[in-house]
Amino acid sequence: MSAAVTSNASDALITDIASLRGDFPALRQRVHNRPLAYLDSAASSQCPQTVIDAIVRQQSQNHSNVHRGVHQLGERATMAYESARERVRDYVNAASEHEIVFTRGTTESINLAATSLGGSMLSAGDEVLITWMEHHSNIVPWQMICEKTGAHLVPVPITDAGEIDLEAFDRLLNERTKIVAFVHVSNALGTVNPARELIEKAHAAGAVVVVDGAQAMPHRRVDVRELDCDFYAFSGHKMFGPTGIGVLYGKERLLEAIPPYQGGGEMILTVSFERTTYNALPYKFEAGTPNITGAAGLGAAVDYLSRIDFAALEAHETALLDYATERLSEFGCASIIGTAADKASVLSFVIDGIHAHDVGTIVDGAGVAVRTGHHCAMPVMERFGVPATARASFALYNNEDDVDQLIVGLRQAVELFR
Ligand code: PMP
Repeated sequence: MSAAVTSNASDALITDIASLRGDFPALRQRVHNRPLAYLDSAASSQCPQTVIDAIVRQQSQNHSNVHRGVHQLGERATMAYESARERVRDYVNAASEHEIVFTRGTTESINLAATSLGGSMLSAGDEVLITWMEHHSNIVPWQMICEKTGAHLVPVPITDAGEIDLEAFDRLLNERTKIVAFVHVSNALGTVNPARELIEKAHAAGAVVVVDGAQAMPHRRVDVRELDCDFYAFSGHKMFGPTGIGVLYGKERLLEAIPPYQGGGEMILTVSFERTTYNALPYKFEAGTPNITGAAGLGAAVDYLSRIDFAALEAHETALLDYATERLSEFGCASIIGTAADKASVLSFVIDGIHAHDVGTIVDGAGVAVRTGHHCAMPVMERFGVPATARASFALYNNEDDVDQLIVGLRQAVELFR
């Protein structure tokens, strides 16, 4: 038996996180004649072979439409799609598969929530509370629905460390607050928000809570019932699955109560020119042919994550983040943006006198993939007074060699530009 597992049980969890790197074929390639150091998993993580196999199997053997065909392939496609839903339900511990709506990703999940939930419960003078550390996809949909309904968008400030100002949160939460929407883990800062505490406070004030879980899923074991969130949005491509598939978890009674997001096939029960009746959950929110292959891939990603010991994963990623933070401090001219006490796998930084884009281009030449720019979080950049940062983001497959390669690239950038 491998040393990587905790017991003899066939479903024992993997604790040797370093051993997982070999599961990811994309990481075996060379870029600019250097081994690839992929430090952009907060944008999109790589897929393990099992996810790739599930996608290929779906496309090569089961490709057909769902919920309609009486033929073999149609049945297999439906099975692949619905079994993925059940595995996702089980993984996040939702009470029912009615609560798992497949979407294109976090962005579409939040747009669905803003349009259907916000559209039905907000009126003039109401407030939607968000934070200063939100991704644009958890700002703009709320802004749009506020414009339509006359509600106000209220952002909670963040501290110099990049944490939610909890006193301000308490102060701004009031009887006009109908919806509280916040990010579980910030993509720009790495901050892990105290989700349970924020949800409890929001509920005590009578608000409905929508959590953007895009960055939490690959780093934390999320249990929606333990969190007691009302809605939780996430994307397949950030949790080792494919692009174009995501999930909106919603409590059944809330999903029942709100109107459909889009109209079309699949989401109806009956249609006449006078009146349409809507399908049961979750289909009411899944108009048109869904991303069946994406769901099959997401199902495999969830299977993959289910086998991992998250205490070991967190320890691995924290050690790596600490190592990277320490190595970055070798450059007297580098400042880290985002120094929260509870932080996950994101190292956002600026180097004096060198634009983040130049940093990104030079380290790419050294085979290192980092993200540069505003990370779809312009208010965060404004808060810290920088136009852009370079961001190295880590996943379970990264190791100290990746960090060392980043440091070599950064040294080249500093030598070239300063
Ligand atoms: N929220 C956060 C915190 C994110 O990091 C991202 C992706 N960068 C999104 C939302 C949007 O996700 P997607 O592009 O998959 O819809």
